[in-house]
Amino acid sequence: MIPFLDLKEINRQYHQELKEACSRVIDSGWYIMGNELKAFEQEFAEYCGSTYCVGVANGLDALILTLRAWKELGKLNDGDEVIVPSNTYIASILAISENNLTPVLVEPDINTFNLTADGIESAITEKTKVILPVHLYGQISPMKEIMQLAKKHDLLVLEDCAQSHGAMIDGKKAGTWGDAGAFSFYPGKNLGALGDAGAVTTNDEELLEALSALRNYGSHEKYKNKYKGVNSRLDEIQAAMLRVKLKHLDRETKARQAVAKQYLDGIKNPLIELPEVTTVEGHVWHLFVIKTKYRQELQQYLSDNGVQTLIHYPTPPHKQEAYSEWNDESFVVSEELHEEVLSLPISSLISFNDIKVAIEVINNYKVK
Ligand SMILES: *Cc1c(COP(=O)(O)O)cnc(C)c1O
Repeated sequence: MIPFLDLKEINRQYHQELKEACSRVIDSGWYIMGNELKAFEQEFAEYCGSTYCVGVANGLDALILTLRAWKELGKLNDGDEVIVPSNTYIASILAISENNLTPVLVEPDINTFNLTADGIESAITEKTKVILPVHLYGQISPMKEIMQLAKKHDLLVLEDCAQSHGAMIDGKKAGTWGDAGAFSFYPGKNLGALGDAGAVTTNDEELLEALSALRNYGSHEKYKNKYKGVNSRLDEIQAAMLRVKLKHLDRETKARQAVAKQYLDGIKNPLIELPEVTTVEGHVWHLFVIKTKYRQELQQYLSDNGVQTLIHYPTPPHKQEAYSEWNDESFVVSEELHEEVLSLPISSLISFNDIKVAIEVINNYKVK
């Protein structure tokens, strides 16, 4: 079986370095909010090209706490509208609901899977305060156009970068276009910890300070609490693991891009639609997602022929029980995508030959 993603093999490459980093933390006697976190925050900010980075416990918290910080800073109020893609992973939307803000679902472009400036603009109302673009599957959204819109309508922009570490437009990376970027380091993400972790990038010192307090009980100074905060810290062990993995991220991204190119050049089956790529550097290929009217049959056929695939995602957010208030609404683009998308194996380690075999199998697929 050609596996969808072999995390064990990926982390095994760095076994020695990871063990050394782990020992360093064990021997330091300091396990929360110490030098590893500080160093990782600095290194990740530098990697992205942002002034600041704040580590938090996971990607969902990175989104939740940024919106919360804007509320604490008086920039947002209950009921304000936040524009978010209708086809995103549900976490982007949960972060909005959690803050008593109103998610406004906007349909993506059916070929890039991302929001467009036109789609966003037609959804802007007097209550709109934030645009939350999601760089889905690793491809950065059209940030130049989105930032122009944000400027025109005086809106905040929070980029959901959970799938897009290092994706860029004209050399400027995801997480540095908007007012803030929220990252996840869930183990399977392009930059993955060995547990949960997340971070926010920003150039805004006021936001940095609010986030630093909010993640630590709302405490800006020991035993002084400015906000009713939460415990959402990125621990020293995970920070140390991430420092090791960050050093290899660009090489891993190049390997993913090579796999994607091999698929894009090799898949020639009229039953399958390939993803639209805006620029080479704009896509870090967290996932390689094709579309087909024959998804269920194709997935079974690929499985029978030794190619493991997954679906990202089988149910659109507006059809989830959690959002029963939206269950009767229709978002046709999103519904079509959720019926047709299929994610092929991709990773920094998968071999040229495995991809070649997968392509042959895919090209031989016919409707029964
Ligand atoms: C993974 C993911 C998140 C959530 O990150 P966690 O670290 O799992 O909380 C948010 N948004 C998107 C688009 C994601 O893919």
